[in-house]
Amino acid sequence: MTMLSLVERERYLRQIPLLGETGQERLRDAAVLVAGAGGLGSVCAQMCACAGFGKIRIVDNDVVERHNLNRQVLYAARDHGLFKVDVAARRLRENNPWLSVEPVRETITRESIGGLVCGIDVIIDGMDNYDARYILDDAAFGEGIPLVHGAVNGFYGQVSSIIPGETPCLHCIVPHPPPPGDVPILGVTVGTVGSIQVAEAIKLVTGLGKPMAGRMLLWDGLMGEAEVIPVARDPSCTRCNGRGVAP
Ligand SMILES: [Zn+2]
Repeated sequence: MTMLSLVERERYLRQIPLLGETGQERLRDAAVLVAGAGGLGSVCAQMCACAGFGKIRIVDNDVVERHNLNRQVLYAARDHGLFKVDVAARRLRENNPWLSVEPVRETITRESIGGLVCGIDVIIDGMDNYDARYILDDAAFGEGIPLVHGAVNGFYGQVSSIIPGETPCLHCIVPHPPPPGDVPILGVTVGTVGSIQVAEAIKLVTGLGKPMAGRMLLWDGLMGEAEVIPVARDPSCTRCNGRGVAP
């Protein structure tokens, strides 16, 4: 691990007291996969760039549409019709030119996931459907990579850190996902939930604090309340029982 440069010390002046120089170096040396460049993905990628994750791989196959702009904070009206990951990469580099940003125009499938998680230290779930989330979860367990799950619906959201070998998998935590389809959503909800997800990723990489491992945060923006509930492994789960479980 090389020391921080003078530029890095200046850029991260206000957070090095929190993370320590070692923590900041760990972020710089970490590679994060932001899966999805929609509402959650926009916020997560932006916060990862601000915090100084050294490599950000962002994956999405959609283009910017007008109805994205209420919550997908990386995009402007002029970006209509452009691939999200291309615009996202430009914005992230504008924010933090010292990072390696890798935009990938792909859909997350069982075929593509292997290459997408290659060399990755932490996966952030910015998906909008559980089929893709379960693919991320299986890859996380297969490769032993922590996965920060996040999901939103209207004013509500949830976050949990899934750590292979330590915590239940996503199939255990969410055995009966909601049906696929568009849900109503506000920018403030993805802002809140995405920021909490990146806080989890920062803790996982730096070793600070206590990740929401084996726990899930449920955010209710209408009531202004958060609840943290324990999550348990389904004894019959064939995915995380015996897979990636510490000896
Ligand atoms: Zn499981």
